[in-house]
Amino acid sequence: MGQDQTKQQIEKGLKLYQSNDTEKALYVWMKVLRKTSDPGGKFRVLGCLITAHSEMGKYKEMLQYSLAQINTAREMEDPDYLTEGYLNLARSNEKLCEFQKTVSYCETCLNMQGTTVSLQLNGQVCLSMGNAYLGLSIFQKALVSYEKALRYAHNNDDKMLECRVCCSLGNFYIQLKDYEKALFFPCKAAELVNDYGKGWSLKYRAMSQYHMSVAYRKLLRLADAMECCEESMKIALQHGDRPLQALCLLNFADIHRCQKDVDKAFPRYESSMCIMSEIGNRLGQASIYVGVGKCWILQKEYDKMFSNSISISIVFDSLCALLCQLCILKVHSLCEGIYRCKEQQDELREQVVKFLQCVEELELYCGMCGESIGERNQQLQALPCSHIFHLKCLQTNGTKGCPKCHRSSVKLGFV
Ligand SMILES: [Zn+2]
Ligand SMILES: [Zn+2]
Repeated sequence: MGQDQTKQQIEKGLKLYQSNDTEKALYVWMKVLRKTSDPGGKFRVLGCLITAHSEMGKYKEMLQYSLAQINTAREMEDPDYLTEGYLNLARSNEKLCEFQKTVSYCETCLNMQGTTVSLQLNGQVCLSMGNAYLGLSIFQKALVSYEKALRYAHNNDDKMLECRVCCSLGNFYIQLKDYEKALFFPCKAAELVNDYGKGWSLKYRAMSQYHMSVAYRKLLRLADAMECCEESMKIALQHGDRPLQALCLLNFADIHRCQKDVDKAFPRYESSMCIMSEIGNRLGQASIYVGVGKCWILQKEYDKMFSNSISISIVFDSLCALLCQLCILKVHSLCEGIYRCKEQQDELREQVVKFLQCVEELELYCGMCGESIGERNQQLQALPCSHIFHLKCLQTNGTKGCPKCHRSSVKLGFV
């Protein structure tokens, strides 16, 4: 298969894919992959396969195609192809929660000098890097990366990228429990979809609705949370978007738990767990475990926490492997609650010590008042250096500069 025919067949696959005929599109692309003699065409068709598998939540396959793509790029020795290849490798690893690898591939991308694609791609690289740092609970670096991604989005007038960064910032502030900002950013994303998204894939709408839903739930506006989650789930089902279905199911379960309706929560946690295990989202699995644990506490069935099939030691091991300190902290806090109810003082003390160690390691405290950040809903604000403080502390601090890194500017950052 030569260059022209390769191009034609890739186009044919794209049309099928856009009209939601994924099976046939994949069939066409696989055939191109086997038969083409054009390295550029091979690279592009691998790109199509990577995107399709990413959207289906088949992340292991996505990684395999990304590895094949980077090999093709290396053979071609073309810096543009290499940059794009490394970005796809970074993204595949991000999806599989391999956050350190993600960061390192992103750095490789950013170090590729003088490529013509870097202007377009750097924003996406920074977004992926931010998501990876957030996964690793390195909050300041995550914020720096998101700010850079936003700057690229503004400079290139890239509304889709802006929309994705806003969703990620929503997730960022959910983690740090500034629920006002956690709602503000996905609302901004939803606005972008309304204003510019006529020709965009519906997944952008679904994504913004999902992140809004999580923020509404945290603010205990449960009817709004339900409405947004249903909208998001509807689109996720239409598109066969398994990863989003898993997130929506988890959020539905959490909403029911907030309504103290554990009978409705449990089956949704279970369905979500099936998909999360299938796609390999280990962070998602940990969040489900925390939710289920909170249900058992509601029901005063404390022992189930330690005897269930997803026993707590497995969860800890998996989280330690992921290096996700924030999740580990949440699980310690959950265990603390259980031991307190069971009045097991020694175990309780152990969990408190471990919890405080996590807080220390994560530097989850405000550099001005020394009180914790991310423990309860509080308004936060970052300085231009991306160090994060309580908003009220910044407002009373005047112009003394950042107490963490001593940079003088105290002009408030825009995220
Ligand atoms: Zn403070
Ligand atoms: Zn600072």
